[in-house]
Amino acid sequence: MDYIKTRTIMTKSDQGKRWFGIDYHMNLYKGCSYGCIYCDSRSDAYHIDNFDKITSKLKALEILEEELASKQYKGVISFGTLSDPYNEEEEKHEITKGALELIKKYGFGVSIDTKSDLVLRDIELLKEIQENNNVIIKISITTYNDELANFLEPNVISSTKRFKVVEELNKNGIYAGVLITPVLPFVTDTEDNIKRCVEKSKMSGAKFIYTKMGMTLRKKVREYYYEHIDKLYPGLSNDYQSVYEKNLVCNPLRYRDLLEVFINECNKNHILCDMSEIIADYKREIPTREQISLF
Ligand code: SF4
Repeated sequence: MDYIKTRTIMTKSDQGKRWFGIDYHMNLYKGCSYGCIYCDSRSDAYHIDNFDKITSKLKALEILEEELASKQYKGVISFGTLSDPYNEEEEKHEITKGALELIKKYGFGVSIDTKSDLVLRDIELLKEIQENNNVIIKISITTYNDELANFLEPNVISSTKRFKVVEELNKNGIYAGVLITPVLPFVTDTEDNIKRCVEKSKMSGAKFIYTKMGMTLRKKVREYYYEHIDKLYPGLSNDYQSVYEKNLVCNPLRYRDLLEVFINECNKNHILCDMSEIIADYKREIPTREQISLF
């Protein structure tokens, strides 16, 4: 694996209310080899050349430790917005694991997005972090259908296995749920898919399900996606072009109906799906040292 120079690892986030109550962002890796054909991180906007090749940041853990030591507010740090933190290099290099050890040492919380079962390796660490701060794990699943998932996300474990990861995390007391994202127009935007994903989430003990019920198609991602989706559904890119030619955000044509189906199914199954309710549910008050000593 190659390394790139960097000065900073953590950045402050102002997206907390809209995205799982996070306080900081962190990407330890650049690029991802999971090959999802819709991946937004391929876009020019993020300036990652050769996206399928994973690189990491030189002295990432040393820089991170300095940053953690200097921060007063022990908030929740988000992993995995631009690259899966449990990518194919993590098993060997353990950079995500190293970061979790530092996060435990300095008492921060974590919010992790992943499609990999390697997260199960770190269950004990996550439990220890959870003793002092908040932890939330989001397993991203686009379809219940393993065959379709294998085409859309060729190097990722099956959806069935991902639901099992949610189950295993929750069995171990780690707050975990499902991100149904993206929802691909003409491909995964069916009532059947939404209902089956909610049903399987329920069976796996998911604490929440969240979806934005659409996808983004920025420059470079759009071309890549069209090329690949046409292999599965010849000519489908023409439908995208006629409906979404100028759209960055591409919502399904039945967006409102599908959202209603989704919310009804979540309510019926007693699973949280509203962002503010999810944040309130997983974030508990962490007593300060002063409060603990008073107690
Ligand atoms: S796992 Fe995430 S970062 Fe990696 S290719 Fe898929 S969508 Fe992109």
